Parts: sequence; C-alpha cells; structure tokens
Amino acid sequence: MTMTPATETETEEELDSALITARRQLERAATHVDVDPGVVERLKHPTRVQQVSVPLERDDGDVEVFTGYRAQHDDVRGPYKGGLRYHPDVTSDECIGLSMWMTWKCAVMDLPFGGGKGGVTVDPKDLSADETERLTRRFAEELRNVVGPTKDVPAPDMGTDAQTMAWFMDAYSMQQGETIPGVVTGKPPVIGGSYGREEAPGRSTAIVVREAVDYYEGDLSGTTVAVQGFGSVGANAARLLEDWGATVVSVSDVNGAIYDPDGLETHAIPTHNEEPEAVLEQDAPETLTNEAILELDVDVLVPAAVGNVITADNADAIDADIVVEGANGPTTFAADAILEERNVPVIPDILANAGGVTVSYFEWLQDINRRQWKLKRVNEELETHMLKAWDHIRAVVDEEGLTWRDAAYVVALSRIAEAKESRGLWP
Ligand code: NAD
Repeated sequence: MTMTPATETETEEELDSALITARRQLERAATHVDVDPGVVERLKHPTRVQQVSVPLERDDGDVEVFTGYRAQHDDVRGPYKGGLRYHPDVTSDECIGLSMWMTWKCAVMDLPFGGGKGGVTVDPKDLSADETERLTRRFAEELRNVVGPTKDVPAPDMGTDAQTMAWFMDAYSMQQGETIPGVVTGKPPVIGGSYGREEAPGRSTAIVVREAVDYYEGDLSGTTVAVQGFGSVGANAARLLEDWGATVVSVSDVNGAIYDPDGLETHAIPTHNEEPEAVLEQDAPETLTNEAILELDVDVLVPAAVGNVITADNADAIDADIVVEGANGPTTFAADAILEERNVPVIPDILANAGGVTVSYFEWLQDINRRQWKLKRVNEELETHMLKAWDHIRAVVDEEGLTWRDAAYVVALSRIAEAKESRGLWP
C-alpha cells in the first residue's frame, strides 16, 4: 500500500515527531480494520494532559521551577501505563505521541492497560542526587490525583530509573497514608519491583529475532546479527542471542561500533550501564561508525539505541535480511516505505521491545497480590506472552499480506476498537 504523502511544508524530521507519526500510524491502521470512524477520531486525541509546575530548591538554596507533564491517551482496556522521562526535550506533544504508542503496545501484548507517558523538561545531568529526589517527590505530589494503581501507572524511561520510581512510590504512599507499591513499576525488587524487569525489553527483542529467523526459515546457529546501541535493550538482546547460538558480529555505542566476522564475546563487553562508552575500548579486528553498522551485510539488524536512525537517506543501503526494532521508533515513516518496497521485513518496536511493559504488568500483578515471582517464572510467562503476540501478528501477516508493522497495528486497533464499541460513548 502507499504511504500518506508528506505535505510540501513538512520535512522528514517534522514528520517523525512522535505525535505526527503516532497519528499517521493510526490513520494507516484504520484503513485495514473495519472500525467506526468515531472511534478513530477519539483515538487521535488523548483523554487528558496534566501539565504541572515543579518547583525545586537547588542545593545552593535558589529556587527553580520546571515543567512536568503526564499525557493519558486512552484507558478503555485498563489503567494508563507508560514511562516518565527527565530530558530537556520533553514537551506536551512528545508525551501525547509516546502515550499513543503505549496504547498500541499494551494492546498488541493484550495487557489490561492503556497508554500514558510523562516527564519533566530538565537535563538530569544538571541535577545532584538530592535535587533529583526532591524534584521527583514534588512531581509525584503534583500528579497524585491522576495516578494510582487503578488509574495510571508510571515506569522508568529516559533519565529515570529504579531509584526514581522508589522515590515516586514513597512520596505517593506517604501522602496516601499507606504503602502502595502498584502506583509505579520498575522499582527495586526489595520494595515490590519484579525480577527480570530490567532485562525484559532486551529479552523480548531476542525472542522476536529468534522467531523471525525461524519464520524466514533460517537457523539461529547460522545467523549473523548486528546490534546498534549496547545499552539495556541492545546488550541484553545481543547476549541472549549469542547464548542461543547466533553470531553477533557487531555492536556499537554512541562513539562507534566494533566488528568481528567470527563473532564477538558479548558477555565480555561492558554495557552502557556497567561502563558507559566502553565498546570502542574492546579488542576487535575492525571498528566502524554508527552509520556503517546499520549497513552491514548481516542476517539480522537490531537498531537498539535511539529513534530515527533508519531514514530515507540510508534505507536503500540497509543490507540486512531482517530488521528487528529494539529501540522505539528507529525507522522513519519514509524509510519504512523504502524497506517495504525492497522486501526487507521490519519487525516493529511495539512488539519487539514490549517485554518491558509486559514484565511491568507482571510487577503490577505481584504488587496487587503482595507476592513476588521467581525470575524463572517471570521469564517463562514473558516467553508465553511474546509467543502469543507473535503468533497473532504472524497470522495477520500471512492471511492479509500486510507488513509486520501494519499487522501489529491492526491487532492493536482491532482490540481497542472492539472494547470502545462494546463500552459505547458516555453519555
Ligand atoms: P541505554 O541508555 O541503556 O542504552 C543506549 C545505548 O545506545 C548506549 O550504548 C548508547 O551509547 C547508545 N547510543 C546513544 N545515542 C546513540 C546514537 N546517537 N547512536 C548510536 N548509539 C547511541 O538505553 P536503553 O534503555 O537500552 O534504550 C534504548 C532504546 O530502547 C530507546 O529507544 C528506548 O526508548 C527503547 N526502550 C527501552 C526500554 C527499557 O526499558 N530500557 C524499553 C522499551 C524500549
């Protein structure tokens, strides 16, 4: 099918802002699903965006006021769910677009959640640990009326981590007068976090690579893989794939890539978290740029660093047989069309890295039930959920001849539309 053409005034960069992309993807999916146009219209808009001022007393006594947001896109299937990021580029529109993606991601995985996203417009590197804690506690208080285990459940995202979630949960619980671990996920296990949460997006990406290789009649033991971004998602995916027999020939961080045609020992390479920017310090026959890793002749390419890295400028040069999106939004709308034309399958982010939100769901269940699952159970349940989602999307690909991305959106939109139609429009 053809892509909606860009208007003359839109550059590719503008096209790929999260909100514009999310709306275009919704419109595109709606052409494949028999859905009431009123439902599509409703899904183009978030339920609400809470904008708050977050005053912070700096360590030197000065007071600075930051702006925070929580976009709540849709909750027809359950509480809003999605990350809180601390980043200088956080805007209301970005939060809305990302919250829409979370709606689709939760629906693809058939989780009883809708989509949310939020954050504070701040550079976390400019904050001391004490300042980050005070900012987080005040932000939690400003959002207190709109979050909660049955309303909206935030999680870590760019610039936030398990400690941020612990402070958020503590601030919320202190004000509510009881310990409520289910208000956020991605917490440390000692206060209700789930084992396996940190590893989960990389694990689900690896599972999807494994299934995709099998679908295209390959064998993991003869498969070469390149992974851009050796962070939480990329390193966990690369290490699991190596453990399962694949040959990981190249990995990168922000400074560049290393390449060994015989395969790298991924467990010996420190991840971004363990030792930031250590990839180029490793012994390897060759180094490459971050642009060149994307154009390697490999069986599977896993972009797992940042968004918008496969664009109209380099989509023709992608030499991998399969692309599996570990990062959120690594392929632009225009690049997607070129890869489709070239018959290069792209397995979308809303499936591949959805292990993160799936284990967040397990964490929420554990919190509500005041039980802790063992790591083995978490990984087994994740495997089951991923295979179920994979099978569903594969059936749509096979039966309707759609791309993997379109099939994933069709599955998501069908579930959401069905829920909306059966609940109706109130009043
Ligand atoms: P991370 O910070 O742990 O790692 C990011 C890696 O990418 C690092 O190795 C960094 O050096 C590298 N990198 C940064 N900028 C780069 C650039 N311009 N070019 C090439 N490499 C660059 O991050 P992460 O948590 O692994 O997240 C990676 C992606 O996966 C993001 O798109 C994120 O939104 C997405 N994601 C993360 C999770 C999660 O729970 N961690 C879940 C779902 C999706």
